[in-house]
Amino acid sequence: MSQGPIQQIAVVGAGPAGGFLARALALAGVEVDLYDPSHPREKPCGGVLSAEALRYVPEAAALPSANRLTDLEVRTPFGHRFQQRQMRPSLAIDRRELDGSLLEGAVRAGVHHRAERVLAVELGGDQPRLRTRQGERTYDLIVGADGVRSLVARAAGLAPQPHQLGHMEGGWGPPLGEPGTLVLHFGALLGYAWVINRAERSSVGMVGRLEDRERIQAAFQVFLESRRLPAASFSPYRWSIPFSNDVFQLDQPRCGPGWLLVGDAAGFCDPLTAQGIHLALASAWAAAAAILSGRPSTYENRWRDLFGANLYFGVRHRDLLGSRPMTERMLRSLERSPGLGHNFFKII
Ligand SMILES: Cc1cc2nc3c(=O)[nH]c(=O)nc-3n(C[C@H](O)[C@H](O)[C@H](O)COP(=O)(O)OP(=O)(O)OC[C@H]3O[C@@H](n4cnc5c(N)ncnc54)[C@H](O)[C@@H]3O)c2cc1C
Repeated sequence: MSQGPIQQIAVVGAGPAGGFLARALALAGVEVDLYDPSHPREKPCGGVLSAEALRYVPEAAALPSANRLTDLEVRTPFGHRFQQRQMRPSLAIDRRELDGSLLEGAVRAGVHHRAERVLAVELGGDQPRLRTRQGERTYDLIVGADGVRSLVARAAGLAPQPHQLGHMEGGWGPPLGEPGTLVLHFGALLGYAWVINRAERSSVGMVGRLEDRERIQAAFQVFLESRRLPAASFSPYRWSIPFSNDVFQLDQPRCGPGWLLVGDAAGFCDPLTAQGIHLALASAWAAAAAILSGRPSTYENRWRDLFGANLYFGVRHRDLLGSRPMTERMLRSLERSPGLGHNFFKII
């Protein structure tokens, strides 16, 4: 990767990773084009903004949709319930608001928002280039913040393999409990189901491996019926996430000559909780520091220093923790030990 002043940067994708990175760069005086035609939009998401994520975007606490998550309930596959009052300030939010406010902040900082879909990216040659329906442009650096099906990652030869992906089946409906409560149901196919209650609506979903997609779809229908959610009041979605148990994938580079990947595009999603907003923000923070240092290739060490150890731990233990005997053991321990319960809420 070229080392030295970077004049022109394209960030593809204005989710949390792209919006946060573009704003940080523009505030430091870098010229940034941020490509994303989707706003305003609601991204399929549970909407949990963890305490780790809030450290990067404390202003999110003032979003109109923000509900403080106060109570966690875990339901075990053998019929027990474990309840914990949360000590750390996680929020439930709308992605339309969170991502929209980050984009607005980026534009206020001087980012040029191009509401254009990027159709092709070329990373070989002297200067990386991209194409939209409006034409072709060259840059010093193209950042892929374009989510789990990233075009930039594909151009860099890093498209995820099916076994590195998870499947989410979910949607939004009327509240199913007190605002600020999060209910997790374990025992579902190397994953879990969730119900997150906000004042005006609930977010309900189920996550597991992509290879279990059909079984997840069937199990989710049963789950919805058990919660008595009428289809007419439920807006469903299906989506993929990076959900890997492949350690070798983590060893792959996340940047190279003229390109760099952040957030879901880089495959950064917690393999145990399936949460990715904090890693989108953390990787954007590491990328901004690397680019502003004039040595973008230092991104590789920076993201590994910041959260690499947690990712390696999660990837190595995902299948072990997701297996039914292990899940049952873990949840029985949680029931016995309030201290462990508090730590469990830390990873949610
Ligand atoms: C159902 C579901 C529930 C989840 N729940 C949670 C949760 O509760 N908490 C949590 O922390 N994480 C959750 N996650 C994970 C979280 O949503 C992602 O990790 C996070 O959105 C990643 O942010 P990002 O900025 O990397 O990508 P994204 O948020 O996916 O943003 C990518 C952006 O790129 C744009 N884009 C894509 N292609 C192009 C293109 N060619 N040209 C221009 N723009 C493009 C898209 O329009 C999009 O706006 C959930 C994921 C799913 C699927």
